[in-house]
Amino acid sequence: MTQPINRLYLLYHELRTTPSDYSYVVETAAFEKQMDLFHQLQKADAPGLRPEITFDDGHISNFELALPILQSRAIKAWFFITVGWTGQKPGYMDWSELRSLHQAGQQIGAHGWTHTLLTHCNDAGLHRELVEARLTLEEKLGTSITTMSLPGGRSNQRILAACRKAGYEQVFTSVPKPEPDPAASTIGRLNIRGDMTLEGIADLFQPGSKALSGMERQHRIKAAAKTMLGDRIYAKLWALLNRQEPDNDAGESYGQ
Ligand SMILES: [Zn+2]
Repeated sequence: MTQPINRLYLLYHELRTTPSDYSYVVETAAFEKQMDLFHQLQKADAPGLRPEITFDDGHISNFELALPILQSRAIKAWFFITVGWTGQKPGYMDWSELRSLHQAGQQIGAHGWTHTLLTHCNDAGLHRELVEARLTLEEKLGTSITTMSLPGGRSNQRILAACRKAGYEQVFTSVPKPEPDPAASTIGRLNIRGDMTLEGIADLFQPGSKALSGMERQHRIKAAAKTMLGDRIYAKLWALLNRQEPDNDAGESYGQ
């Protein structure tokens, strides 16, 4: 009898060819080793989790550095795009780069229009972040867009209902947990930080991984802290703990 396969979705943001203290940057050489590991795990015929790769925000390094590494290993990833930043914000992809990414067989989803936390949006704001973002991506790329990821991972029942109404069949969150059903309406993800070692990452994929249940527990504690402290105080604390760079305004809303 075949064992059911659980998947562990991983979340990346930015790659750099040089080391960085910023926790949301992964060095290219480390990313390459991680993709070698994931390529092996995806083909593996053994119990344990299968990795899936996702990127949030649409940083230019996704196209320039990550794409060739993924293509050479035949790995298909998801790229969730902050639509209002495309071709507008320095350091982020433009439409022709995004089209090349899509034409290379990579999967594209939405990540809002302005990267505002959706829980802070009124109905008109939600329309822009969800509906206009989807329609613009569809028009520019000539494909249907049915997946999105939540800026800063923030959501509640109202947001999930608005996502469904806006035409998204799947919403990717920042809750690190194994996923038994790749077609589920919400998909949790584990954020890969720049300071994680290859051994530490490999541990997460072992059957019954204690490292993974530790991260699930840590996430629940952080979610409780957000509720108690409120988003503004939490964001300040987060920036301090993650060595946020002063010029990187995506950082505050990355906040996991
Ligand atoms: Zn983001």
